[in-house]
Amino acid sequence: MITVGTFEFKSIEAVKRHVRTHLAALGDGPTTDPFLFALFTRHPCLSLVPDSFVIRGTDLTFVSGGEETLFGWIKCCRGKDDPKTDAIQCMRRAIHPDIEAYRQNQSATRCAACNAHGVLQVDHFKIPFSVIQADYIGLDPAPTIYRKNGMKGKVFDDDEYTSRWIDYHRLKAIYQMLCQPCNGKKSNKIENGLDRKC
Ligand SMILES: [Zn+2]
Repeated sequence: MITVGTFEFKSIEAVKRHVRTHLAALGDGPTTDPFLFALFTRHPCLSLVPDSFVIRGTDLTFVSGGEETLFGWIKCCRGKDDPKTDAIQCMRRAIHPDIEAYRQNQSATRCAACNAHGVLQVDHFKIPFSVIQADYIGLDPAPTIYRKNGMKGKVFDDDEYTSRWIDYHRLKAIYQMLCQPCNGKKSNKIENGLDRKC
């Protein structure tokens, strides 16, 4: 059984069907629909809590800090029922404050890849998040017991594990700021299996 908010589904296909129907019922435009927030917590890579969403047909974007970003809601349908995905989500959530701190403290005004001005996003430079995360799990296997953390979704119930992981990630992570198109290109490349990030 797959749980999304207050709904239960028998299969990933059933979740996808429901999302399509739900998006059509809500219609195009901005929304703060609770089901979409619940769905978003299942995303394997994105750990932030968005402010709202925007629907355009079957495309769904999330809005955070005034930035609108397209994301693959199909991933959210597959999402959290894979134990490995659960661990990745928790590990992303754990380092999210560090990413935010970097974003707030950096002074870059241009994209590190194309030099464009614009809204910049934090990217793991040199070593992708997925590599740091997989290496760490190899050294210190992820716990399988979680607890709920409100709208933010699940976190590891083992706080000591979480802080060991945060320390390791701090040692390994190098960040850069990329514009949305460059970050999106990188993500697309990864989605096509040419690289690993998510
Ligand atoms: Zn760029």
